[in-house]
Amino acid sequence: MAAFAEYAVLKFRKWFWPIVAGLALIGCRTAPDRAPAPIIEVVQLPDLKPPVLGQGRVETNLPPPILPPAPPPVAAFRWPTNSAHPGWIALETWSALNQLRAPQRRRPGLETFFTVSTPQGAVTLQIGSRIAHWDGRPCWLGYAPQLFNGQPHLALVDAAKTLQPLLAPVPPVTRTNRVIVLDPGHGGADNGTSGAQRQLEKELALDWALRVQALLRTNGWKVVLTRTTDTNVPLAARVVAADLANADLFVSLHFNSGHPNLTHAGIETYCLTPTGLPSSLTRNFEDNPRLVFPNNLFDRENLQFAFRLQRELVRATQANDGGVRRARFMGVLRGQNRPAVLIEGGYLSNPAEARLIATAAYRQKLAEAVARALE
Ligand SMILES: [Zn+2]
Repeated sequence: MAAFAEYAVLKFRKWFWPIVAGLALIGCRTAPDRAPAPIIEVVQLPDLKPPVLGQGRVETNLPPPILPPAPPPVAAFRWPTNSAHPGWIALETWSALNQLRAPQRRRPGLETFFTVSTPQGAVTLQIGSRIAHWDGRPCWLGYAPQLFNGQPHLALVDAAKTLQPLLAPVPPVTRTNRVIVLDPGHGGADNGTSGAQRQLEKELALDWALRVQALLRTNGWKVVLTRTTDTNVPLAARVVAADLANADLFVSLHFNSGHPNLTHAGIETYCLTPTGLPSSLTRNFEDNPRLVFPNNLFDRENLQFAFRLQRELVRATQANDGGVRRARFMGVLRGQNRPAVLIEGGYLSNPAEARLIATAAYRQKLAEAVARALE
């Protein structure tokens, strides 16, 4: 424990001033970025064991990233892949390996949609689209599914890192003595984005976090906030705070901006992109699928928590469902040694949504949804 604390302090010291200087130069948009986190160049992929199928073999010499439709063969499982198209698995094969019924075409006229029924809801893939739907909820894939010989195929990495986690039941967090770190975005000189009503993201995010804290405390969680006042906490310090709290889960709370577009609306939940997949959002940052970050150890739980949170938030608010997305540039996520997600609770650049978010009643709805997802 002492060694761990020492490590945390050293890490904090090493990055504190570069972060402060960086923040001063950059000026933050809605999501944190550029926070340095340890990067381990790929020597071995993280846990890629599909639950039903046993251990996989790990490919250590990764090719450079390849754009769709050919995903990089980052990992070879014992799953049978299409011999003419390595890196792809027939949806029917994936279904059979998971003891699910064969995929169905949705209905005449929608020939490019394929649905597989699972105990956790139906998963629908669309040929050529990176947006899959699980139980009716959008969830981004790394690669758009393809038809080979008339049969729908999906990238092997998507099968392992997107479909397989959602097929598993609830996330493995104990129901007692559990610790969550809530991270209200921005603070101090960093206002975040601002709304049509002139509300500041930093204030709305803090209010949301305090509301979630009050609810989760009655729900078996010990709750730690990265800030409880209007202060600027460096991104690396937010990661260290979760280490020091020995947190089981980290949830960063933000509001979004589509400026100058005033029509973007809705809620999005982000987690770190698994190794081998392209991100859903890159925001002009390098997106190298070969990188492994500390938080990649939690790919499976990240997606499970993100999906549950996103589902409850959209149910509670009836907001536009922006789905579960993945990004690699969010410094507050990728250095986390625990499951971690970042929620964008709506667009302050959208006048109608900003008006809603400005009300305490709506922020209470957002808070209750988060608490319900973590019951
Ligand atoms: Zn933000």
